[in-house]
Amino acid sequence: MADKTKGQQLREDLFYKKKSAFELKTADELKEVMEYAKEYMHYLDVAKTEREAVIYTIEKLEAAGFREYKLGEKLEAGDKIYYNNRGKSLFAIRIGTEDIEENGIRILAAHVDSPRLDLKQHPLYESEHFGYLKTHYYGGVRKYQWVTIPLALHGVVTKKNGETVEIRIGDQPGDPVLCITDLLPHLAKDQNGRALGGAFDGEGMNAIIASSPYIEEDGTVTPADEKIKLNVLAALNEKYGIIEADFMSAELTIVPAGNAQDVGLDRWLIGAYGHDDRVCAYTEMTALIENKDTEHTVMMVLADKEETGSNGVSGMKGHIFMDLIDELACELGANPSVIRAHSKCLSADVTACYDPLYAGVSEKRNTALIHCGVGMAKYTGGGGKSNTSDASAEFVGEIRNLLDENGVIWQTSELGKVDQGGGGTVAMFIAEMNIDTVDLGVPVLSMHAPFEIISKADLFETHRAFCAFCK
Ligand code: MN
Ligand code: MN
Repeated sequence: MADKTKGQQLREDLFYKKKSAFELKTADELKEVMEYAKEYMHYLDVAKTEREAVIYTIEKLEAAGFREYKLGEKLEAGDKIYYNNRGKSLFAIRIGTEDIEENGIRILAAHVDSPRLDLKQHPLYESEHFGYLKTHYYGGVRKYQWVTIPLALHGVVTKKNGETVEIRIGDQPGDPVLCITDLLPHLAKDQNGRALGGAFDGEGMNAIIASSPYIEEDGTVTPADEKIKLNVLAALNEKYGIIEADFMSAELTIVPAGNAQDVGLDRWLIGAYGHDDRVCAYTEMTALIENKDTEHTVMMVLADKEETGSNGVSGMKGHIFMDLIDELACELGANPSVIRAHSKCLSADVTACYDPLYAGVSEKRNTALIHCGVGMAKYTGGGGKSNTSDASAEFVGEIRNLLDENGVIWQTSELGKVDQGGGGTVAMFIAEMNIDTVDLGVPVLSMHAPFEIISKADLFETHRAFCAFCK
């Protein structure tokens, strides 16, 4: 072989080339990646709502020595605590030994709510031998994806006596499921003529919950109106002790039934409901638990309500985030403004994965590719970069070096072509509190669909990125 020409050498030295995990990892390392995905898939099966994700995470945190913290309690270096915000959002903090004013807090912020169909406050009605539940969709839902698939009912009901019961129907072996019907193609002429976004009416997204009347003990049909509704209420009352009025004080939600599954003969992809954003919530948690560093102060945030704008008492805009930093400052004798100024945050949220079937909406050079590692989005938003925090070159440079030094496979990402659409994350709300923030997360195919797809390699690299950030 002839020596390289200067141009060839320059090309090697100067060009950036994206590589996949299969090019960069050894066979043993790839085995480790596969192994890591197993418990994540179990987590997806048991944590389909923000409440269920909080319960799962608390269990793991407690097993790792974290204790529950209430506002106003004493805090000191070495403490490992979690703050459970109404069972819907969660904060975990490991207080380090170094000066918190000088070094700030390393914050990992993901969200645990996912798009779904919430029940209305008066959901139950019957029509022509069917009992239905009325829904109000939550987050960015493409309605056509939610019909003719098995659905499960998850959530809580607070009864008149104040007791809250948990409901979970459709996800245990042998459970019945719910379903929203669709038109047969033979009669879909009018519907087929409508634009996809308008083909399904929000008020029409009603799930079948029953189809038989209440039967008296003597085997005869109840001689009353609304016998199917009665049948449903009698069954729910028997199992959960609830009455119709209790729906008014409930948070019940319809999610896809079924478990996470390997996709592809080679099993390198995971198909499941709710990767967005439980994939980042899970990798954050495992990074925090694995992290044995006692110097830095690290905070894990699992926010709620990201899919609807981060508002409310459990959303990222809620003041509890600031309150916890204030409490930390107060207990450690530090100035909270100085802590924030020196803190940094990875907004851990999923990003769009390049999909060859829909190549037209992405600009390939700047979109995350499958198996090429965790995606870093300097900015999100839409239009002329509106509604985003757009991380600084310096901060992106810092994280870039951190990832490279730790051998993390990563790539940049953006949500899609300019002016194609857009979206946001919690990044801007944290950045607005004077904390340097950049988005880092797993590329997802079919984002927000009942069955989203990610790569096991990208999952593991996200975990590794968060480990590098914590240590
Ligand atoms: Mn998200
Ligand atoms: Mn989302």
